[in-house]
Amino acid sequence: MKSLTFNQLQLRVLVLLFFLFTSGLISYMHFIELPKLERSISLLAERELDTLAFSTKNLLKDVAKINFDYAAWTSTYNFMHDKRQSYIDDNLVDETFSIIEVDGIFLIDEHLKTIFGKGLNHKTGESLNFSFQDFNQFPSNATMLPVPRRDKGSAKTSGFIMTLHGPAIYSVNQIRTSLLEGEHRGFLITIKLIKEDFTKSLSESTLTKVSMLPIPHDYKAKTSSFWNEKVTVTAVKPYSTVLIGDMNSQPIAILNIEHSVGTMPNIINQKSIIFLTLLSFLFYLIYQLISITIIIPVKKLARDIKVMDKKKECTQLNEDYTVKELTTVSKNVNELLLTVQKQNELLAEQVNTDQLTQVMNRHGLKVELTKHKDECIRLKVGFIVVMCDIDYFKKYNDSVGHMKGDEALFLVAQALDNQCKRTSDTCARFGGEEFILLFTEMTTANLHNKLQSVINAMENLNISHPDSAVASHISVSLGATIVQPSDVIDFNLPMNAIIKSADKALYQAKATGRNRFVINYFSSNKTT
Ligand code: GH3
Ligand code: MG
Ligand code: MG
Repeated sequence: MKSLTFNQLQLRVLVLLFFLFTSGLISYMHFIELPKLERSISLLAERELDTLAFSTKNLLKDVAKINFDYAAWTSTYNFMHDKRQSYIDDNLVDETFSIIEVDGIFLIDEHLKTIFGKGLNHKTGESLNFSFQDFNQFPSNATMLPVPRRDKGSAKTSGFIMTLHGPAIYSVNQIRTSLLEGEHRGFLITIKLIKEDFTKSLSESTLTKVSMLPIPHDYKAKTSSFWNEKVTVTAVKPYSTVLIGDMNSQPIAILNIEHSVGTMPNIINQKSIIFLTLLSFLFYLIYQLISITIIIPVKKLARDIKVMDKKKECTQLNEDYTVKELTTVSKNVNELLLTVQKQNELLAEQVNTDQLTQVMNRHGLKVELTKHKDECIRLKVGFIVVMCDIDYFKKYNDSVGHMKGDEALFLVAQALDNQCKRTSDTCARFGGEEFILLFTEMTTANLHNKLQSVINAMENLNISHPDSAVASHISVSLGATIVQPSDVIDFNLPMNAIIKSADKALYQAKATGRNRFVINYFSSNKTT
């Protein structure tokens, strides 16, 4: 599987979270919050329609109340009986219309014949003609009249009717001798045309905007409920319409109510856009924070380790991180680096150390010799190479055994190493029972002393050598060659030539009796 970078992973996780969060929020709004809101708005609309019906009923009642007062009046009954003009002149004058706020008053006898009828706009005083009360011409209008009562009580009806001057509220009361009993004499009909004050009054009581529209010409089937029917609002809409029907349930006008809350809020609106923008910004901040505190430091840590690998050197890593885990990783790597460093040093030491004598081996000697040569070139300081060989060591082995020979080799090596006091002085096993000592420049006298000191050290070591022809103890012969700065100007000076020169001196020491030293100058053997 292709592995992702931390940054890619982080980006994917944050985008996924953003997507989940946004879709979760939209789903919650769409499936839970909006239906709840829709139901609440619909209930409010239903409540407004209920109030409209209630207010309409009250307006009908107002007209009916006046009608009842006049119909139940004994004077009205008397007029129906003998039709005295004074009743009309006293009670049904123009002023009456404006006082009781009606636009038409009609007295109908028991044979449905109009015995008095007058139309007058109670606001303008304009005379109005009505024809609805002609029950011969409009027999269906007779349904506006209540069934007369013979028992105790008074029959009454009220409702809406279409007139020549538009829709109107009508109210009818039965006329009897007195309020509740007596002969049936006819009906008193009052008419009040529906004008702006009707819709204004409904608007005030419903706290909405109510308007009235005529029934369109192409209106056929009943598409809306009547105002006095229970209406269930199922969807949010800006307005509702209810019908005003006459006494025969024929629609005569439409009431249009503009609801106080008519639209559903959008899920994606200004607020949600601001919210999502803030959410994106928050995720961006999280992205940056994780980048700064984790990703960038991890990348730097990886880069530092890579550089270390390239340079093949162990440098300690920075341990100052904001995230504790990174500090721990860095600390642990540093500890590992220290261990590796120690092991490297140990390994380097072992590579350059002779196992038997524990002094420098030939490999180390090569490095040291090069160092001396380089220093000689750089600082113009000469150096001395001394070849050291144990005398008659074969015989020693032969007489005391190889094991003892090894022990003696170790002791001689240690004694020689002790003679190398300055840090730049070196003692190395060149091979077999031969050693090389390296010294930086010193005077000839000092060199004499030093070589004599080595001869004396063997004497002091005092390892008994029964078969030596030159001493009772193990002794060494020394051949020293002095290398001067002028000898090493040539960069490619072969080291072997220097050793060969020392070997030559050693040969002379052996040849002239052993247990002694011979000194020569490298320059004198350069060409040989
Ligand atoms: P000379 O005085 O001429 O140097 O005589 P020599 O016997 O020392 O010289 P030669 O080169 O003939 O012999 C060197 C001997 O050193 C031979 C070998 O037995 C001994 N030798 C070399 N390496 C070791 C070693 O690691 N251990 C032991 N025990 N002996 C060794
Ligand atoms: Mg030898
Ligand atoms: Mg020897």
